[in-house]
Amino acid sequence: MSIFGTVTVKNGKYRVKGDFHHITPNTPIRNENEGRRLMGVTNPREMTYIHSYGGEAIFFEGLGKGMIYGTRCDNPGCEFKGTVYLPFRIHCPDCLAKNTVIDMTELCKKTAKVHTFMVCERSGAFNTLELPIKFINVEFEGVSTILMSYLSIGDPKFGMPVVPIFRTVGPTFTITDLSWVKEGVPADQLPMGFTYG
Ligand SMILES: [Zn+2]
Repeated sequence: MSIFGTVTVKNGKYRVKGDFHHITPNTPIRNENEGRRLMGVTNPREMTYIHSYGGEAIFFEGLGKGMIYGTRCDNPGCEFKGTVYLPFRIHCPDCLAKNTVIDMTELCKKTAKVHTFMVCERSGAFNTLELPIKFINVEFEGVSTILMSYLSIGDPKFGMPVVPIFRTVGPTFTITDLSWVKEGVPADQLPMGFTYG
């Protein structure tokens, strides 16, 4: 059993189980030069955050199955009907109608290119990606938005074709389950847990 709290949903209600906050003993902060005078205390904090995906849940569930879902505005009254969104947008930003969920996996496999990129040698707290992180903004044919992601194999260049890979073994149900590689990488050389879907 996990020492962290877990959540399930039943009859439309969140059911939480276990401890979502853990008390950890604090320590004094003492001044080494002034007779160890007390300056303050550390306050270790550990908490479990409940992140609800709502209408985007299908997108995160899809990644672990090798699928990329986007959305499209199909509202006949919308000035920009037919606009396709990836990253997944639940609602059309122009008419605020609910978008249609569409399977974009094949389009991503065939038309993904690096729009721009940045290579980060250092990361923020809780980073799980390998350093340096090669962040890429990916563009797709006929899609009005670009997707922020990361390149696992290859050196990013403007306009470079890239292919999606998915953490289908032990998915985390987060955005890091989706990554990209340069064209032509053999399936057995992909990062651990990742497949072409
Ligand atoms: Zn619209």
